[in-house]
Amino acid sequence: MTRTAQCSCGALQITTDGDPEITMACNCTNCQRRTGSAFGVVAYFERSKVLARRGEGRQFTHLSDSKRRLERTFCPHCGSTVHWQAELFPGMIGVAVGCFNEQDFPAPNIAAWHNSKLDWVEFPCDWMRLPEQDPGQALAEGAEDPVAAREPVSC
Ligand SMILES: [Zn+2]
Ligand SMILES: [Zn+2]
Repeated sequence: MTRTAQCSCGALQITTDGDPEITMACNCTNCQRRTGSAFGVVAYFERSKVLARRGEGRQFTHLSDSKRRLERTFCPHCGSTVHWQAELFPGMIGVAVGCFNEQDFPAPNIAAWHNSKLDWVEFPCDWMRLPEQDPGQALAEGAEDPVAAREPVSC
């Protein structure tokens, strides 16, 4: 299945093939600031599943709460962040799920980084609820799945 995510004005677009590898709610402090909301929702696709990109994005590169690099691509006209590359997920492209505007988009099953979650936000108990990244450790150990490298938060 082919899907296209776009910014608010439509100038910046990315088209993907198939369902994402990972869909997660991210409560990191950057997702809170860049969205102006309580958390961001991101779908990670293998880079080979990106079929097309349209429009001129601009990049904002920063370090995550656990000091891993993130390169965000946003629309210079309307300011929406549409897609990014995260050091935590090498070989993948993260796409902001809201930019797909698709009601039946595959639901997340991971709530990342509970340690910076707003107090009133609650996620379902059957999601993997992760407290924080293990700075530097998961990748250095070559973990197959760096997200799963932390003990989940109990429900
Ligand atoms: Zn735009
Ligand atoms: Zn985040």
